[in-house]
Amino acid sequence: METVPRRALAVLVTAVALVLPLAAAPARAMPLPEGGRLPLAGVTVVVDPGHNGLNYRYPRIVNRIVYAGNGVWKACNTTGTATRAGYSEHAYTWSVATRLAAVLRARGARVVLTRPDDRGVGPCIDRRAAIGNAARATLVMSIHGDGSTAAGARGFHVISSTRMVGGTGVTAASGRLARVLRDAFRAGTGMPFANYTAGGDALAVRKDLGGLNLSTRPAVMIETGNMRNATDARLMSSPAFRQREAVALADGIQRYLGR
Ligand code: ZN
Repeated sequence: METVPRRALAVLVTAVALVLPLAAAPARAMPLPEGGRLPLAGVTVVVDPGHNGLNYRYPRIVNRIVYAGNGVWKACNTTGTATRAGYSEHAYTWSVATRLAAVLRARGARVVLTRPDDRGVGPCIDRRAAIGNAARATLVMSIHGDGSTAAGARGFHVISSTRMVGGTGVTAASGRLARVLRDAFRAGTGMPFANYTAGGDALAVRKDLGGLNLSTRPAVMIETGNMRNATDARLMSSPAFRQREAVALADGIQRYLGR
C-alpha cells in the first residue's frame, strides 16, 4: 500500500512541473506590441463589400446615374457577377468582408462596413466613398470578384485610382497600399496574379471607379479572382479559402501600416 501514495506524489510533482511553466507562459506566448496594445488599435478600416443582394430587383435605383469623379458619370451600382454554379458576387463579397471585419476587430481595429447586410439595395458608389470619408477611415478596402468570360482568364488584381479627391498624397498612399496588399494576398492565398488584365503584375490604375475617385482617404479595390473561371470559382466558393483571403488582407493592412 506504500506504492499508491508514492505514485500519487509522483503524479502531483509531474502536474506541478507541467503547470508552473504554463502559469508563467502568457507574458511570452502572445507578445503584444506597445505594452499590450493590439496591433491595429486606433486604426479605422472601412470595408466595402461590392454590390448588394437586392440590386437586381430595383433597377431604377441601381441604374441611376451618379458622379463618379474624374469627369466620369456612371450607374449608382450594378448587380455584379456570379460563378457558373450561381454563387453571386454580392454574397461572396459579403462573406469575405464580414470575415475580414472579424479578423481586423480581433486585432484591435474599428471597422465600418458600407452596407449592413446582404439583403438590401446599393448604396451607390458615391455614397460608399462618403461613408469612408465620414468615418475618417485610416484606409478603405473594397472587395469584389471579377466576371471575365475570356478563355482561361483567372487570378486577382488590385486597383487604385489615377486621381482621388483626397489629393496627390492620398492617391500615392493608395498606390502603396495596393502594392502591399497584392503581395500579402498572393502570399496568404496562393491566388495567382490576373493573367487577363492589369498588365501581369496584378496592379491596375483606373480613372473610372467612383468608390476610389471620391475618397479622401487611402482606398483600393481588390478583384479577388475571376468568378467565371472554374478554378477561381472553386476556390472562391470555399469558406476556408474565403477565411484565408480575410487573414491575408488583414495581414496586408497591418504590414502597410507598419504594425
Ligand atoms: Zn464587382
